[in-house]
Amino acid sequence: MLAIVIASSITVLSALNSNTQLLTQNKEPKNEVPLEFMNWNLTKKPPLEFYDTLIQSIVKRYPNLAKAYVIGHSWRERKIWCIELTSNVKSKESKIPIAIIGNIHGNEWEAGLATIYTAWWFVVNYNYNITARKILDNYILYIIPILNPDGYDQGVRTNLRPTDHNGDGVPFGDPPTDINGDGIISLMYTGAPDSKPEERKFLGYESPDFDNNGIPGDDPKQGVDLNRNFNYMWWRYDADTGYGQARALAGPFPASEPEVQAIQRFLITHPVWALATLHTGEQSVLWPWCYSPNPTEDHEFMESVALRMARAMTQVTGRGYYYTQSYYDYPTAAELIDWAYGRLHIHSYTVELYCPGTTPPSWVPMPYPFGKPAVWGNPIPEDNWTYVGHLEKWDNVWLRTRGYDVIKDLAPPDLELMLKGWIEASIVMIESEPSGTGPIVPDYIGWYDMPCACYNITET
Ligand SMILES: [Zn+2]
Repeated sequence: MLAIVIASSITVLSALNSNTQLLTQNKEPKNEVPLEFMNWNLTKKPPLEFYDTLIQSIVKRYPNLAKAYVIGHSWRERKIWCIELTSNVKSKESKIPIAIIGNIHGNEWEAGLATIYTAWWFVVNYNYNITARKILDNYILYIIPILNPDGYDQGVRTNLRPTDHNGDGVPFGDPPTDINGDGIISLMYTGAPDSKPEERKFLGYESPDFDNNGIPGDDPKQGVDLNRNFNYMWWRYDADTGYGQARALAGPFPASEPEVQAIQRFLITHPVWALATLHTGEQSVLWPWCYSPNPTEDHEFMESVALRMARAMTQVTGRGYYYTQSYYDYPTAAELIDWAYGRLHIHSYTVELYCPGTTPPSWVPMPYPFGKPAVWGNPIPEDNWTYVGHLEKWDNVWLRTRGYDVIKDLAPPDLELMLKGWIEASIVMIESEPSGTGPIVPDYIGWYDMPCACYNITET
């Protein structure tokens, strides 16, 4: 379902970019979702159906600018959609392709929203905004709002590869469950009614203990971190290095996951000059390498683009965004941007849109970029302890509700500023191309990186 409001024509123009110029009159046909009037100031995470409806509406309303197709499926057979945007004023061969990819991490839902907002913004503004028109006349944008639909639906970072976390032979045998119906998975403890928090004993995650092993919620619906599974430097860090980041959730072998295979195949068959992968949890723009402190051949170019992207987002949102080579944020391996640059020579950026809270996290290398803290500035509620007494098979149960869990599906304040800031950054990235050699698909990659030999995209 779409969140829409009917507004006056004054509101329509104010919803567009400040550089807006009315190039042509665009009358709204009857019986269609009035996309131009969409209200993007959502209060909470929209369901997956929001994206399906919006994609179909964009394609139907703007057939000369947009088409959509399925590039693959998740473990749960959910479709991974790509929206292809370009005008027909020039041949496709003469245009520069760019990709924007959202929600490789399922719980970072604002990233998926910003990605589909990009598609909406460019089609709705094509007739009104000179920059939007120039870009769709000269570039092809491949927009993949949700690469990890299973994780998005479940509200978890990983995909849903069936995984047996507690070793009893049954995957997902004891998923954390909202027993008391307050919409939040709490942590379970035992302790006397008059006990202090530090005296209480941790039991596990809110769950009736489906598998009866005495530990509630110890087999969650979590699979592989897709952004550690790409077929480049996979498992580069072993247990001895202590980083842990690459190893923990990297999957059984390189590109083992259908979602990763889908985007690898897509980029091999649709090589782009630049790509952005959108995330939340920080406010930053990062570029390869993730796995190494060494600079890439294109280090100075990507650094200069990232700086200008971060500055654009800072200016629009009033919040700080820093920029650094991804390794210096924290080292990881087998991320999308390392694969895309390492294998295909695509200029690649990780864009982190939103960090809740009022204090920059400890690992942030540049806590006050452009003079502003690299956080959104909304306070995270304190942890809340509730004594519930008897619950399922335990007595003296306490539920601890973490502040971060309370706000994770609530939209940040000024959500629309975040979306507009990202649009300005995306324009910086797009207009920085073409630069350098462009993408290079090595001849070995056809058999090496495309596990499915028969590759067809499905048109709508
Ligand atoms: Zn992420």
